[in-house]
Amino acid sequence: MISPFQNPIYVTRPLVPNYNELEVELKKVLESGQLANHGPQLDKLEANLKSFLKVNELTLFCNGTLALQLACKVLDLKGEVITTPFTFPATPHSISLNGLTPVFCDIEEETLNIDASKIEALITPRTSAIMPVHVFGNPCDINKIEEIAKKHNLKVIYDAAHAFGVEVNGESIGNFGDISMFSFHATKLFNTIEGGALTYGDKSLTEKLYYLKNFGIKNEEEVPYIGLNAKMNEIQALFGNLLIGRVDEEIEKRTKITMQYRMNLEGVKGVKVLAQREGIKYNYQYMPILIDENTFGLSRNFIYEELKKYNVFARKYFYPLCSNLNCYKDLPSSDSSKLKVSEQVANQVLCLPIFGELQIEDVNKICEIIQNIQTTMVRPKQEVLNSKSRVAKPIHGSL
Ligand SMILES: *Cc1c(COP(=O)(O)O)cnc(C)c1O
Repeated sequence: MISPFQNPIYVTRPLVPNYNELEVELKKVLESGQLANHGPQLDKLEANLKSFLKVNELTLFCNGTLALQLACKVLDLKGEVITTPFTFPATPHSISLNGLTPVFCDIEEETLNIDASKIEALITPRTSAIMPVHVFGNPCDINKIEEIAKKHNLKVIYDAAHAFGVEVNGESIGNFGDISMFSFHATKLFNTIEGGALTYGDKSLTEKLYYLKNFGIKNEEEVPYIGLNAKMNEIQALFGNLLIGRVDEEIEKRTKITMQYRMNLEGVKGVKVLAQREGIKYNYQYMPILIDENTFGLSRNFIYEELKKYNVFARKYFYPLCSNLNCYKDLPSSDSSKLKVSEQVANQVLCLPIFGELQIEDVNKICEIIQNIQTTMVRPKQEVLNSKSRVAKPIHGSL
């Protein structure tokens, strides 16, 4: 019997500034008297992020969801937006809150991203854009999506919430499509407690985005747009400025952790790790695995519950699918017969703990626990063979 971890191990732990450094810098911000409304910390963070993300245009927001909503707004989208059901609810919500209809497209088994070969069949005269997600930091089929967008005159907004620092053949992930959104929520690789940014190629969007995140206000007397209050404040920006220099080290640590997980789990029957592709610089923000119930002998849900007994809190990202949420399940595109891969993946996926401070011995122990669950809980082969019903439904313990 492996003993549980003494303290709970959650799926992630935020990167935080050094306390003494924060104290010194926070004092300066407080003494400056400027806490909001585009102060020097915000300017500094924009410059830092443009350089880190290798992008020319970038605007900061108080969170990623409002950034994504305003991305739809600034491009003046109409009608329908094709997206993936295998994402965080913020993706389709950003579409819906603009009065647009999300249209769910199935995903690819290899990358868990929108299946570009299935996009064209969903285009109607009402379609104005595609909103793909680089799920778990795995880049989408950028070339194919660009080709489709050009052919049908559609905009592309990437939800790059998971893809901070990712590069494709040396090109920043933030330089594809019309706009990309990054989230700086505490659970993400780089954080400003809460925060987000849009990156884009069209310089002319900058001015309008500044108005849109500031109530649509241009100056003291002119309010040309209906806007939100979606500005990042100085203390959020300070957090970001104190952390940006540590992101490379964080990615390095997560790389080692990922390699250890992959090595340990490679031989475990019924566990699949995603393939790494050539030419991509990953950020290792997540450690997803897919559990095939038939081969593993136990379901994803069973393993998820068992892990808790060892104080390991993995997450079922993204279960349930957005297309199965009450607010979206009646859409024509939510029909599960058209989302077969998404349905299967949502039932198999499990995101294991990953964060820079996680020790390699902890990774080894988590993997041992998974293997131990398999060896102790799965019925001996002969017994399974003797009973068909048991093949379909292995022991589910407390479930
Ligand atoms: C975190 C996340 C968001 C939302 O970002 P916030 O900054 O928390 O508002 C949007 N999309 C995806 C895929 C996310 O993981």
